Amino acid sequence: MTGAHRVDENERAEEIVGAAELLFAAGVMAHSGHANLSARLDGGRLLLTPGFVRGLRPGDLATVGLDGRVLRGELRSVSAEIIAMHSTVYRARPDVGAIIHTHSPAATAFAVAHRPLPCRTEPMLRFGQAEEVPVVPWGPRGSDVSVRGIAGVLERRPTTAAALLANHGLLVFGPDSAATAHLVVAIEESAEAEIAAAAIGGAVDFPDGALEAVRASIARVAS
Ligand SMILES: [Zn+2]
Repeated sequence: MTGAHRVDENERAEEIVGAAELLFAAGVMAHSGHANLSARLDGGRLLLTPGFVRGLRPGDLATVGLDGRVLRGELRSVSAEIIAMHSTVYRARPDVGAIIHTHSPAATAFAVAHRPLPCRTEPMLRFGQAEEVPVVPWGPRGSDVSVRGIAGVLERRPTTAAALLANHGLLVFGPDSAATAHLVVAIEESAEAEIAAAAIGGAVDFPDGALEAVRASIARVAS
């Protein structure tokens, strides 16, 4: 491994730790603190949290191949099946540099209700999700069913930056760890606002054409 690679790897590791701290500071983690975060290193490798994120340090991260092999560091056994969840997204979306999975409570309420989360708040637009967050059908974590479900939703929804995993939680992906963490926070806030608004008559969509206009401008920036 060259020195340049190592610098890159250290930077990606610091960014993952920063993103994990941001999620705890923003109060979007479930009581359990369960989450897993990853960042792409190159075409075939990623950095992945080892099975915990509370008190995470850069040296705790494992380097794994998209094929599921652990190349450096150690993963708790359950993390092996998490690799499939992350590598499916990296394979389907060459532009994705970081992925975060959480059990954020309000977003998870939508996942448990099998309800797509509409885009009806400014922060969701601003942090890159100008469309509803779709629901991936339930399958045991890391199973073929679950992995195929994620791949299917990514294919049907080529511009979504997030998915709700039915009866499970939230999966968000973006160019880097910081941007992805900000979108997790925006989605959790939106889910909370939807649930709160339901008690006072229900949330209301943006005006006609607003989401299309934002999606078009995102597409222009990306191209
Ligand atoms: Zn989970």
